[in-house]
Amino acid sequence: MHFANNRLLSTFSPAERVLLEPHATVVELRRGDVLFEPGSDVPATHFPSAGTVVAIVIGIADGRTVEVATIGKEGAVGGIVSDGKAPAYARAVVQVPGFALRLDLRALEAAKARSPYVRDLFSRYADALLAQVMQSVACNAFHPLEARCCRWLLTAQDRSGGNEIPLTQEYLAEMLGVQRTTVSAVARVLQDQGLIRYRRGTIRILDRAAVEQRSCECYENVERHFRDVLPEIRPQKIVDAADGTT
Ligand SMILES: [Zn+2]
Repeated sequence: MHFANNRLLSTFSPAERVLLEPHATVVELRRGDVLFEPGSDVPATHFPSAGTVVAIVIGIADGRTVEVATIGKEGAVGGIVSDGKAPAYARAVVQVPGFALRLDLRALEAAKARSPYVRDLFSRYADALLAQVMQSVACNAFHPLEARCCRWLLTAQDRSGGNEIPLTQEYLAEMLGVQRTTVSAVARVLQDQGLIRYRRGTIRILDRAAVEQRSCECYENVERHFRDVLPEIRPQKIVDAADGTT
């Protein structure tokens, strides 16, 4: 059941699922749960179910943080590049609460050893994840906050699967690496122009097309690479959430 709720796992054949099912458990993740901290062991990979979103975050010594990747139902969190053989470098924190499938990394490694498809899928996913991180470096260096904020909203909407993103402005500020007052000013402009509505810890995207226009190219570049390397599991882009029915 939960294999179907994650787009990586949903591509597995019954024979591949049999390799993993005995080592998988369904867990409920709350907002703010930390899946791993820098330097910690990573014994398991988490596969977010539809609606669950996890941020990969880098912190610096003065306490500020910035997000480098957003992972939802199209992906997996933990041990993707190192296979769990190295300590975590970043922090993984739950952004949008929900369910995930937790899989023992040793079982995933065993499945890769037995299935060329599983091995190939995860090496392509590692490429797509690295592309997202690399694009974030350029984005954080070159693009203005409003464009970065719009990129983030589009990515989070695709990952969470709805046009309402349960998220405080404090949290959005941490993801973008800026002060809360700074992100509030940007959010107010977007709200005044009818692109979003912010209310009680929820950001609702009212005009997806306008948010896409205001986003930097980073959103589309990452999506295009994802489609190229993982055509079978690309994040489901929400084409038009303006009517509020998605
Ligand atoms: Zn950008």
